Amino acid sequence: MSTAPKPFIPRIDSLQVSAYTIPTDFPESDGTITWDQTTLVLVHARAANTTGLGFTYADLSTAKLIDSLLKHVVDGHDAMDTNSAWLAMLRSIRNLGRPGIASMAISAVDIALWDLKARLLHLPLFKLLGAVRAAIPVYGSGGFTSYSNQQLQRQFSDWVGSGIRMVKMKVGRDPAADPNRVRSAREAIGSAPRLFVDANGAYTRKQALQFAELFRNESDVSWFEEPVSSDDLDGLRLIRDRAPAGMEIVAGEYGYDANYFHHMLGAGAVDVLQADATRCAGITGFLQAAALCTARSLPLSAHTAPSVHMHACCAALPAVHLEYFHDHARIEHILFDGVVSPIHGELHPSSTREGLGLQFRTQDAAPYAVS
Ligand SMILES: [Mg+2]
Repeated sequence: MSTAPKPFIPRIDSLQVSAYTIPTDFPESDGTITWDQTTLVLVHARAANTTGLGFTYADLSTAKLIDSLLKHVVDGHDAMDTNSAWLAMLRSIRNLGRPGIASMAISAVDIALWDLKARLLHLPLFKLLGAVRAAIPVYGSGGFTSYSNQQLQRQFSDWVGSGIRMVKMKVGRDPAADPNRVRSAREAIGSAPRLFVDANGAYTRKQALQFAELFRNESDVSWFEEPVSSDDLDGLRLIRDRAPAGMEIVAGEYGYDANYFHHMLGAGAVDVLQADATRCAGITGFLQAAALCTARSLPLSAHTAPSVHMHACCAALPAVHLEYFHDHARIEHILFDGVVSPIHGELHPSSTREGLGLQFRTQDAAPYAVS
């Protein structure tokens, strides 16, 4: 009598977390906050002598939660069963509250587990996720309110010169200065590239209505992100209904779970939904946001963290582009080998490197370590 071979189960046997704080190259600000450093929380997850990595951009307390709670929750899970590990993590934070730190902690672990699974199967992550495209367009994102007009123009000219066809600037810090700043940006890029603005919720409803007309008429702005607080779904809906044709109203970056996206879409608040896999509980949560967009025939755009989102966006059916955020693009180049730069305005994940295609640069990262 023959005995069937036992299936091999690659169990998660180690999860390590660390954090790195990197100063910005220039003080940065938007309509509502200012910052001069950014912290990346990194997870390495191991099974069957293979290690995957994932990360989020978050506070150091996120690393502490992973270390004190989540690493014990996923220990021993089958590395193939990403949904099972995800659900176990979700249940473990029930009494802590789902949004914010808890979801960012789950995000970093979930991304590491997807990277690990792809490496165990010797596949690039976008292939494992079921690629629908080989590359995803990016928009250059910076244009901080702390920049002079000259700095803003130089950054945008460099991006457009490199083949990027869409750029985004921050507005809302000093509303009186915004029309001139936006005109300078349009002057720098010429007439063809798309120009986006992001107010990070800084304007009132009435200001936002006024600026929607003005930015569209004077500077051909075609994307108005968080014109008012993204908690004001009625306000977003009002501005969406009354904004000029050709101007998309956009929000979603503070979405930590599928219910949030469901309510935002249900309110008719946005023309394009933004989602961030480093906040909304990882690749698993990002694909849920994509399914909600598909159900409403709306496009999806990924928020920041380009090295993670290029894989997710090459597999998510409704994805149209991702945010090539100056701060994160710079940090990912400092901390990882294998980081891809845009070619003709698109990110092409490597078809030969496994997982996210990234290798952590331990030596170079050491001076930035904070945990
Ligand atoms: Mg934004």
